Amino acid sequence: MRAAVVGGGMAGLAAAYELAVSGVDVVVLEGSDRLGGKLRLGTVGDLTLDLGAESILARRPEGLDLIDAVGLDDRVVNPDTITAAIWTHGELRPMPATVMGIPADLAELAASGIARVDDPHVLPVPKDDVSVADFVADRLGRDVLDRLVEPLLGGVYAGHTDALSLRATTPQIAALGPDLLAGATAARAAATARGPVFAGLVGGVGQLPAAVAATPGISVRLDSTVRAVTRKAEGWLLSIGPTTDVEQLLVDAVVVAAPAPAAARLIAEDAPEAAFALAAIEYASMAIVTYVFDEPPAFEGSGFLVPPIDGTFIKAATVSSNKWDWVGATGRTVIRASVGRSGESTLLQHDDPAIVAAALADLRAAFGGLPDPLDAVVQRWGGALPQYDVGHLERVATIERSIAAVRGLEVCGAACRGVGIPAVIASGRAAARRLLDAGTMEP
Ligand SMILES: Cc1cc2nc3c(=O)[nH]c(=O)nc-3n(C[C@H](O)[C@H](O)[C@H](O)COP(=O)(O)OP(=O)(O)OC[C@H]3O[C@@H](n4cnc5c(N)ncnc54)[C@H](O)[C@@H]3O)c2cc1C
Repeated sequence: MRAAVVGGGMAGLAAAYELAVSGVDVVVLEGSDRLGGKLRLGTVGDLTLDLGAESILARRPEGLDLIDAVGLDDRVVNPDTITAAIWTHGELRPMPATVMGIPADLAELAASGIARVDDPHVLPVPKDDVSVADFVADRLGRDVLDRLVEPLLGGVYAGHTDALSLRATTPQIAALGPDLLAGATAARAAATARGPVFAGLVGGVGQLPAAVAATPGISVRLDSTVRAVTRKAEGWLLSIGPTTDVEQLLVDAVVVAAPAPAAARLIAEDAPEAAFALAAIEYASMAIVTYVFDEPPAFEGSGFLVPPIDGTFIKAATVSSNKWDWVGATGRTVIRASVGRSGESTLLQHDDPAIVAAALADLRAAFGGLPDPLDAVVQRWGGALPQYDVGHLERVATIERSIAAVRGLEVCGAACRGVGIPAVIASGRAAARRLLDAGTMEP
């Protein structure tokens, strides 16, 4: 029995892994010339670094489990520091204790000088989905929303709280109950130390895709854009490659692990409801600018976030050489700046030197000066992050219901139930499991 996976990002590779270890012969068809999707290693100066995703949530098991399974466990490390700051009101201010930006200690918040809670309201949690902005601003006011919640969510989704769904992006805020401040204080007090929050790999998480693809039973074809997926009596027919020279491949089952716009086109004929729901998911574009300096930083934390209301060019910065020991051990200072939120794609229309200069000007202002970098690389991520807007979970339910009615077809990836690496690995493996459990892959 043979299966195809469309898209060689982490979701597709995780699906391929699950199928391959269950004895299925699986081909991963990747449209670009490299595997990994949003995971990517690149060279900056004399260093090889992550230019896309760089850390894995360790509080979920799926990322570390796959790392173990493919033999990279001896490279797993935890950050040296995760002490973050907010750059606002003209300086870097330590991030106070919060639950996704909801203050858990008002005295600490006041001392930080980041935001004020003037007139908190205790209001019931609505049953229907609402935007994060509506929910938080009605209860705690705009300042907490703008200067704490917005930068945190901007970091994860590159989106805006006035569109993002409370239920899909911050269920932990909804779970705080009607009195957000009391809920956050109680949640922090109840939180027990459960080990490190994040993990990475010495040498970069960008090593994971190749390690997964090396699993026996997986074959990979790069430069193989899938143009169409068509159901036939004898299986699924995939049309691959340039329209002038289309190749056809017949398989028993297909996992579509491409971002939502491409996935919607591919499944439109056989799962039109799912295709329609996928097509409604917007994406934010962004860029990561990585700088290498030869002087140590005058800053000790892992980085900072910036409230969009402050109108800076960058939205966040990570001092990778503080965060990861293996980066710091190179003797260089490495800083990653991220640029671009949903609806701000004009920022990315500048050429690379202009982006490098504008982001560096912000970093110099935040850190109070930096030398000229030895090198800087701009990695653009068009269609980087799906936006889980209000109503997202209903869209996902529609997608899942519609796909479940079609034998031998599955969809997975960041568009549905989580954008983080463990979440997309979980979605890929679950999609493969459904095919296996449905008996689709039995002769
Ligand atoms: C800059 C950046 C930093 C991030 N940092 C982190 C982080 O530190 N930690 C974290 O947990 N998450 C992070 N994320 C989020 C996370 O990396 C992604 O959400 C996740 O990797 C997406 O995986 P995916 O497989 O769903 O999609 P993708 O990685 O987008 O992979 C989809 C693949 O499908 C291919 N494709 C598309 N269309 C076709 C077609 N028709 N035929 C064949 N192939 C096709 C694409 O080329 C791509 O390789 C980050 C995201 C970005 C953009």
